[in-house]
Amino acid sequence: MLYAPVAYVYGLPDYQSLISLLATNTGEATEFLSQIPAKVYLKSILIPLLALISFISACYFEIKPWKNKTFILLSLVCFLLVLEPTFFVRKTINAGKVASEQLKELEKFSKQSNWGVSKTDSENKDYVLIIGESARKDYFHNYGYPVSNTPFLDSVNSIQVNGLKSGGTYTIGSLTNMLTDGTKKDWKPRYDYSLIDLAKSAGIKTYWISNQGLIGRWDTPISGIAYKSDKIYFLNSGKYDDANHSDFKLLRFLKHIVEEKSSVPRLIVLHTIGSHPDACRRVLDIKNTYIVKDHKYDYLSCYVRSIQKTDNLIQRVYSIMKNEEKKTGRSFSIIYFSDHGQIHTHTSEIKLNNNSTSKFHYDIPLIRMDSEAKEKMVLNSEKSGLRFTQGLAKWMGIKNPKLEDYDLFDGKSDPNDFGLKDKIAAIKNPPDPAIDITPFLKK
Ligand SMILES: [Zn+2]
Repeated sequence: MLYAPVAYVYGLPDYQSLISLLATNTGEATEFLSQIPAKVYLKSILIPLLALISFISACYFEIKPWKNKTFILLSLVCFLLVLEPTFFVRKTINAGKVASEQLKELEKFSKQSNWGVSKTDSENKDYVLIIGESARKDYFHNYGYPVSNTPFLDSVNSIQVNGLKSGGTYTIGSLTNMLTDGTKKDWKPRYDYSLIDLAKSAGIKTYWISNQGLIGRWDTPISGIAYKSDKIYFLNSGKYDDANHSDFKLLRFLKHIVEEKSSVPRLIVLHTIGSHPDACRRVLDIKNTYIVKDHKYDYLSCYVRSIQKTDNLIQRVYSIMKNEEKKTGRSFSIIYFSDHGQIHTHTSEIKLNNNSTSKFHYDIPLIRMDSEAKEKMVLNSEKSGLRFTQGLAKWMGIKNPKLEDYDLFDGKSDPNDFGLKDKIAAIKNPPDPAIDITPFLKK
């Protein structure tokens, strides 16, 4: 009964549900639980209720099946064969084993790096990596969504890649694959080959600013990678920090960092909360420009606005960097990408969440904005999230003997997608392209 509402979102207990549970804070948990429709909670209550009704009616009609030993034995055999009642327990124990193995591995490599010494031919400049959250590419106007929710990305001089695939379908699963140079065959991260360690090994100073939850130093693989940075700033530090911080709060840390003089290149990572469900809680501090006539599209309107807010955040990051460039002449490069997409669920209101996997879950935006860029370029090329760390290394001019040469921005499709097409083909849900809210907007 207790697990049933969670099962609605995550299915049977597995590594993903367990590690996400470990990584959450009370604020996030409340939001998560409030996303589950009331219908699902009612169904869970039915579990003990139906048992009770069966028992009472058995007593009332004096059926009392528990007095018939043959009947009990037959039922038991039947249940064991058909339902395997230990399945749930077995899945939970397995998930626990995998989670603890992963965390052990993470701790083992927490301070260790196997990159050795690297070089960089980068000039003394700033690299800003903005990590988006739950942002589907097809909801960005600059990627073709009909509502003009990305005025900045539409016009900024940039390289826009159409075809980057995420490293997984949920935050931890994807980012551990994208921010470490993991194994490509079985899609596993290698924490001793992290992006942060790689940058540091090349003499690049590293900063991590985050609006995502943090409980303890090594509690989640992402905070484990973050903590390798030279300097760390978490808006949510502590299990009971329920505050709903806006991503805009990340900017003052960025400003503070770039105002410091530096004689070496810097990598500054901004881990946003982006469009994380509940998207309506993400857009409380921006004007509602997309009011819909039909309540069915209320949540989608929030989601479309969360992308608009992301566009605005990127614009503000860009202007902070541009101002510094004007003052000091220090050039910069900004990359924005998202960790994974989401799936539409249809109840009385259409929602977007991580309940299940969409065939569009892996389709994420990738945009690079260089201070010296003179035009906007769009590249249609299939790129793998599993090679993202290699691509970011190239971006920062890093050379290391253990690193494969890989360019995210050469416009060439990868010859190998490491089995992703089969993974997507195996997703049973029908394709759910972006839903245009234009016909439902109030004038
Ligand atoms: Zn995510």
